[in-house]
Amino acid sequence: MDGFKVSVVVPAYNEQESLRALVDKLVPILSKYNNYEVIFVDDGSTDRTIEILETLNKKNERLCYLSFSRNFGHQIALKAGLDHSNGDCVITMDADLQHPPELIDDMIEKWQQGYEVVYTLRDDVQNVGWLKKITSNLFYKLMSKMAETKIDRGAADFRLMDKVVVNVFRDIKESPLFVRGMVSWVGFKQFSIKYIPDKRYGGKTKYSVKKMTSFALNGITSFSIKPLRLATLLGMSISGLAFLYGFYAVVMFVFTNKVISGWTSVACSVLLIGGLQLLMLGIFGEYLGKLFMESKNRPTYIIKKKKL
Ligand code: UDP
Ligand code: MG
Repeated sequence: MDGFKVSVVVPAYNEQESLRALVDKLVPILSKYNNYEVIFVDDGSTDRTIEILETLNKKNERLCYLSFSRNFGHQIALKAGLDHSNGDCVITMDADLQHPPELIDDMIEKWQQGYEVVYTLRDDVQNVGWLKKITSNLFYKLMSKMAETKIDRGAADFRLMDKVVVNVFRDIKESPLFVRGMVSWVGFKQFSIKYIPDKRYGGKTKYSVKKMTSFALNGITSFSIKPLRLATLLGMSISGLAFLYGFYAVVMFVFTNKVISGWTSVACSVLLIGGLQLLMLGIFGEYLGKLFMESKNRPTYIIKKKKL
């Protein structure tokens, strides 16, 4: 098979246990295609990841790498890999072998049939922890309610993109970036493949609860301003209720003489309204913060070392 080049982008953050096993599986598959490159993006790892990448590159120069000056996060690592790839199609996948490399052949076949994006959906019956299942379900539910951009449930960052789509991505300077949403947003002819994730090959998940929360918040606030509208709607309904209650209070004051009791209701409503106000301020802050970060126009990532 010839005539085209396949690029594979693999973000790796402290993946010393998995890298060799991944390469052992990946290279035989990619060797079927005449021309390929694998770009590992070392996302500021503190273990031996970079040394392993250097050794791999010495043995096989098609195994290239970029190394960040610090941990910038999975999504930015994906972006850096896409920016530096030069294949006719680019496949992104995790380093921990949860994304079965065997699927690459199917992806390329679909691409040759004319699809510009071939993405995968995780069929999470097994091999995925319960916490991940619950949080991921919740996230996709919220996302589909809130955002105009539709993201299929279980969409993974394991996908093939044609170089036309990758070029579009190169021009996107948005930060923080939510790749999954962006892929859906750019359009093009897309095809989805279901897959069953394997168990993580080695090491631990790099997505802590903290990282997942920020991933979810970024995802929603990058593609929707509905939470801001929610603030307005809630504000309006609370004001409506407050007006009615105020009216009731005045009536009670004018027409009866039992006004002093009722500390509980005052305390409860003050607490409730205080809490809601803080929540709404938080939502506002989330967007304002995004604007602030974007306005500084800093580079999305910093590369310390690269071998391409
Ligand atoms: N990853 C990364 N930077 C990070 C966190 C994760 O480059 O800050 C990489 C990680 O090495 C892996 C992929 O992103 O290749 C997915 O992470 P992980 O497998 O830990 O997530 P999970 O599969 O548990 O959602
Ligand atoms: Mg994983």
